[in-house]
Amino acid sequence: MKRLFIDIPALLDGNGKADKIECEYLYHRKNNGSFSLLEVAEFASYCRQCKDAFCVAACPKDALERLESGTVKRYNMRCVGCKSCTLACPFGTIFPDVINYITMSCDYCLQQLRSNPDYEPRCVKTAPNQAFQMKETAENPAEHIFFVGDFLTVKSPSWLQKEERQ
Ligand code: SF4
Ligand code: SF4
Repeated sequence: MKRLFIDIPALLDGNGKADKIECEYLYHRKNNGSFSLLEVAEFASYCRQCKDAFCVAACPKDALERLESGTVKRYNMRCVGCKSCTLACPFGTIFPDVINYITMSCDYCLQQLRSNPDYEPRCVKTAPNQAFQMKETAENPAEHIFFVGDFLTVKSPSWLQKEERQ
């Protein structure tokens, strides 16, 4: 099965112009689903998943939760975009650019893929440096490639690998 693949180092090499990546969302033209994907990728790979998470404690709106898996989740309907979490994180892993006040959403273009397996979503066509791709992928920790959920694959060196804790 094809999955959306995000290559974060390639995105950064392409000057990280995430706001230039377009989204296909039909009903809300200003939706930029790529931001929601980057947020998920960031919490999965850069976040150190602190047991007593500073970001969760700092949030005045209870918009962040540390899940049992250790992953932090932001409930964007509660988030007011104050960015206190960005300041509270001692590792600087919450990038202010992807914490949006406006809710954005990605549905992985599953509907379009079902009717056309070769379908290329708009984010794939517009991302710099081929940072977004739609392709068959396999997990490969040696190459920093990980599945995040059922439909997303992220390529990014995680802090665990950087510190050789895996
Ligand atoms: S404080 Fe930073 S590193 Fe710790 S859980 Fe929150 S985002 Fe992750
Ligand atoms: S930006 Fe949102 S998630 Fe972060 S501290 Fe403020 S309200 Fe909470």
